[in-house]
Amino acid sequence: MSTHSLDPELGDAVAAPGSTVLAGFPSVSVLEEDRQRVSTDRSGFVPETLPDGVVAARSVEDVVDTLRLASLHRIPVVPRGAGTGLAAASSSRAGELVLDVSGMNRILRIDPEEQLAVVEPGVLNADLNAAAAEYGLFYAPDPASTAICSIGGNIATNAGGMRCAKYGVTRESVLALRVILADGRELRTGRETIKGVSGYDLNALMIGSEGTLGVVVEATLRLRPQPVHTATVAAFFPDVTAAARAASAVVAARIQPSVMELMDGPTLEAVDMAMGTDYRAKGGAFLLVQTDGYGAFLEQDVVMDVVSPLGSCEKAVDDEHAAALMTARREAIPSLEKLGRVSIGDIGVPRGRLAEVVSGLEDISARTGVRIFTIAHASDGNLHPMIVMDPEDSVTTGPAKVALGEMFHLAKRLGGTLTGEHGIGLLKRDWLEEEVGAVPLEVMNTIRTALDPLGILNPGKGL
Ligand SMILES: Cc1cc2nc3c(=O)[nH]c(=O)nc-3n(C[C@H](O)[C@H](O)[C@H](O)COP(=O)(O)OP(=O)(O)OC[C@H]3O[C@@H](n4cnc5c(N)ncnc54)[C@H](O)[C@@H]3O)c2cc1C
Repeated sequence: MSTHSLDPELGDAVAAPGSTVLAGFPSVSVLEEDRQRVSTDRSGFVPETLPDGVVAARSVEDVVDTLRLASLHRIPVVPRGAGTGLAAASSSRAGELVLDVSGMNRILRIDPEEQLAVVEPGVLNADLNAAAAEYGLFYAPDPASTAICSIGGNIATNAGGMRCAKYGVTRESVLALRVILADGRELRTGRETIKGVSGYDLNALMIGSEGTLGVVVEATLRLRPQPVHTATVAAFFPDVTAAARAASAVVAARIQPSVMELMDGPTLEAVDMAMGTDYRAKGGAFLLVQTDGYGAFLEQDVVMDVVSPLGSCEKAVDDEHAAALMTARREAIPSLEKLGRVSIGDIGVPRGRLAEVVSGLEDISARTGVRIFTIAHASDGNLHPMIVMDPEDSVTTGPAKVALGEMFHLAKRLGGTLTGEHGIGLLKRDWLEEEVGAVPLEVMNTIRTALDPLGILNPGKGL
């Protein structure tokens, strides 16, 4: 990225295209190509304007200096990791300054004895896993975007992923954080020990706060021993309702899969088209189930017993076969992005209600006329109904907005939630109060104001 550092002593003030004067900000760029690059994420949201500038932070000091100056001049700041978010939470607009921390990407320490890692926020999820693997360890939260998303973004969205079925979401793997508050003060949350309950849990408060409470500049993360065995089952069903029933049956069988991913027929078709595979020919919906640990193969047999009455199942023959099945799932979103603009739902329902929710989604598609493709982290009851539109259509208005609202109301009727792992961002704010209620929203706003009284951190997002 081409940038220019500005020295306030030289009076080298740069007026950004908006009215913002960005003198003194570290490594700031006002080039249009840089502002364009950071203006949105992978949600399909297209902002009408570009941010005034981008700070490419390389150090904690850069973040502190940026936030101090932004507070002084009351410039709104949008923290940004890798920009793979799906809720437009890191999108930006005129009058705002983007604080890009993707260049703070060093793994500072791996402690194999304590099974933890200390990292900067821009480290990519997959890079941490590759480094941990050298010690026979792994970092559990694995969004399908593992190769392209950052740990800071994962923390700010409380990201989930495939292995969360057994190992929990990001929250379960964060031990401690170093956070820079809106006014430039440093806040340390959590501790390196596995247990610790002194004071309020500020760690948990920061996780999932979508860049609205502070900027994560360092994270101490829990690693886990790599499982000794992993066993994989691929199951195909006549339709998505049968696949959803099978997933609920696996949960009810009281075993603990490490991965249980569902894809409907139209998504299989899109993956086949993008990757040259032939999964759709095998059935109208697909369930991928992995079990791991010492009992992996015993649990795999239970999966086969439970699922085979509902569909055709096979055990993966080797690691390569298992990896190909995982790749098909990881490629679902990129494959759909080849068909048009994609707006991704993220509803969560109780796991016994998966069949009801998938048939409800079919009704929504028929009623609203939008094309909905469904994938799900089935063992968490977390579905991603994906609306594929024409490239010029908007994700914030029209039929896509109507369908997103209907999805939320469907999930709510079934005792579920608006967002399981992608966050509220800009795209889901309209429904937040309806889910959480007025008093919780008021408390959240009070906390936000206490930490950021000038309201400069990611305004218009989250709450
Ligand atoms: C193909 C694909 C598959 C995906 N699969 C999954 C999945 O399985 N599970 C899942 O949970 N998500 C998934 N995602 C969504 C996305 O990858 C996650 O939300 C991820 O955590 C975002 O990380 P990021 O670094 O890209 O963050 P960004 O998009 O840059 O930012 C996301 C939010 O975090 C804030 N933020 C970023 N860095 C910091 C920081 N250092 N301090 C404070 N705030 C910060 C931003 O302000 C914004 O609010 C997928 C996305 C794609 C494109």
